[in-house]
Amino acid sequence: MNKVKLAFLLALVALASAFVYFDVAQFLTLDYLKSEQHSFNSAVVENPALSALIFFVIYVVVTGASLPGAAIMTLAGGAIFGFWWGLLLVSFASTIGATLAMLAARFLLRESVSRRFSSHIKRIDDGVEKEGAFYLFTLRLVPIFPFFVINLLMGLTKLSVPVFFVVSQIGMLAGTIVYVNAGTQLAKVESLSDVLSPGLLFSFILLGLFPLISKKLVDFFRSRKVLKKWDRPDTFDRDVIVIGAGSGGLVASLIAATVKAKVTLIEKNKMGGDCLNTGCVPSKALIRSAKLVSDMKRGANFGLGEMHAEFKFEDVMERVQRVIRQIEPHDSVERFESLGVDVEIGEAEILSPYTIRINGKVLNTRNIIIATGAEPFIPAIEGIEQIHYLTSDNVWELRKQPERLVVLGGGPIGTELTQTFNRLGSNVVQVEKAPTIMTREDPEISEMVAAKLREEGVTILNGCTATKVEVVAGEKFLICEGESNERIPFDELLVAVGRKANISGYGLENLDVSITERGTIEVDEYLRTNYPNIYAVGDVAGPYQFTHTASHMAWFATVNALFGTFKKFKVDYSVVAWSTFCSPEVARVGINETEARIAEIEYEVTRYDVSELDRAIADEEAQGVVKVLTVPGKDKILGVTIVADHAGDLIAEYVLAMKYGLGLNKILGTIHIYPTLAEMNKFAASEWRKNHKPEWALNMAERYHTWRRGTAVQPGVESVS
Ligand SMILES: Cc1cc2nc3c(=O)[nH]c(=O)nc-3n(C[C@H](O)[C@H](O)[C@H](O)COP(=O)(O)OP(=O)(O)OC[C@H]3O[C@@H](n4cnc5c(N)ncnc54)[C@H](O)[C@@H]3O)c2cc1C
Repeated sequence: MNKVKLAFLLALVALASAFVYFDVAQFLTLDYLKSEQHSFNSAVVENPALSALIFFVIYVVVTGASLPGAAIMTLAGGAIFGFWWGLLLVSFASTIGATLAMLAARFLLRESVSRRFSSHIKRIDDGVEKEGAFYLFTLRLVPIFPFFVINLLMGLTKLSVPVFFVVSQIGMLAGTIVYVNAGTQLAKVESLSDVLSPGLLFSFILLGLFPLISKKLVDFFRSRKVLKKWDRPDTFDRDVIVIGAGSGGLVASLIAATVKAKVTLIEKNKMGGDCLNTGCVPSKALIRSAKLVSDMKRGANFGLGEMHAEFKFEDVMERVQRVIRQIEPHDSVERFESLGVDVEIGEAEILSPYTIRINGKVLNTRNIIIATGAEPFIPAIEGIEQIHYLTSDNVWELRKQPERLVVLGGGPIGTELTQTFNRLGSNVVQVEKAPTIMTREDPEISEMVAAKLREEGVTILNGCTATKVEVVAGEKFLICEGESNERIPFDELLVAVGRKANISGYGLENLDVSITERGTIEVDEYLRTNYPNIYAVGDVAGPYQFTHTASHMAWFATVNALFGTFKKFKVDYSVVAWSTFCSPEVARVGINETEARIAEIEYEVTRYDVSELDRAIADEEAQGVVKVLTVPGKDKILGVTIVADHAGDLIAEYVLAMKYGLGLNKILGTIHIYPTLAEMNKFAASEWRKNHKPEWALNMAERYHTWRRGTAVQPGVESVS
């Protein structure tokens, strides 16, 4: 730091120290203002110019040095100088002070911060270049952040000083008016009855409503800004167009039709999207067949002797298609049209926030809901393009069973398919670059699944990154590097390393719809994109990529699109559950231990071992755990992981409990049918209760019983006679 900077910094520190040392804050209170109001008013009458100058300078120093007290001084401006003079003085003093604070931050910090966080600052600078003035304006208008923070932050950007000054002056004006006006009313309070005067009440109501009104104003300005370059039709042919007939789009269009809105649903491929055609439904159908094969292999455990499933792989894969066909009518064009949805089959292209082209026609609409889903992500692996690799999109077309299958990816999809193909008789190697599979779960849970897969004959290679596919004399190999260098021969390679949102090729680029760093469409808490009438739901927006979260989001987006003028609803992710349908299943709601530690949330763990459960023993499924995280000393549930047969169904009880704030005591006090797997939920609650039993009350009870029996009190000593 050079000498000038150091001197400047020291001066600021001295000023702040003096502020604290002389307890200047005591003069910046409402009480002080009231007690000295008469002397202030007399000073203004005697020498108005000097009083105004002193007030102005103090205001500039307080805001310029980012000292606390600006709000009370604004009230004082109104109380001492009246509305118009107070407004004039505060408006300019606050802007000058803010500009000085911004310049001070720029002078002291920008260089060093830019050096350390160059990429971040570059991104902010790019944003500021594009939208800086507007952002500053909205920050000024909606006082979510204290103004001194905004001043300091803007100092780190390269927003020009004149723009900062003018935008601050205009942006802060509304707030200044409200506060100065409240100050003028405060000045009139002489007695208790004045407190209830209409003027004062109105000013306080204005103070309270100001953040709300300013937020509405910002919404309005933001909408106008983004929509102004597009021609808005005078009338609309429909209320909403939904793009994509997967889990999100189907539910969105159904809700719209149910509330009598005019809705068009556009699908370019198959109705039902990924879930029905290439995701949940086929995978669960295949998992079921594979489970039966696995159960038959364990026939001896059931007292049935050696058993062996005779089957043709192609028949199993045909059954998967039959299941899809059986469910298809639920999502069909006919069904949706009968429910009042106009369905168009073809590729949608967004032309403007109000128009969409489909099959050469241009449809107009008041709102758009994007539900275009995601697709398998294919990593850059040298040579992968020379083979026909499998993904969750095309694996369902297989009719010849791969003898040697490599599954790339240890996430839920990779793990489900690894176990399934292995159970159906393929030799499966699962490759995962992380140290464990199922990295989202606690290590002990991932290890339980991995142990089960290994026990069934899967080879899992952790810490192994696939770098190359080689084809030598017709034989295919996957080269992996990491903890061990591997050259794995295979017949088929299934790539399941994650899914990327479908965000290109249908017009988002032309509209400049904002995209997150994760490559999903950016949405706010109401699921709006940066266009107020364009919403996004499901995999294309995230953060979760499940069927049930897509349909959950669809409700919020549709209701906000259709009725947001009256009331908007924030999407609620407070209790989200999911399951991986391997055997045993792994289901979760809320946080796990790993997440609790990262978020520094205090927790207590209660475990119930599923191998103890009567029904699980009877079913030959006695494996797994119920792991419950609670607030220390309380039965409030923070999260639950269940590893067990049917865990995906069993977790529902905990989902309900968390959603409605029911604790473990309530679960313990609920009758569960014997013998069921659901009892494991109650037994986990019972474990928690045992760990929290009131020792003092039990001691008292023991004494009471002993006294009733007429024997001596000897806690802990059993009487045999
Ligand atoms: C193998 C696998 C197993 C899974 N298992 C489960 C599970 O057990 N449970 C679970 O909850 N989730 C599961 N999922 C995830 C689930 O399938 C997705 O989260 C869900 O389908 C997302 O729904 P969506 O509406 O966002 O998108 P999708 O279902 O993908 O639908 C998007 C639709 O948009 C269409 N579309 C795209 N662009 C356009 C355009 N320009 N014009 C017209 N139409 C367009 C597409 O053709 C597609 O039909 C699984 C996924 C996979 C791959």
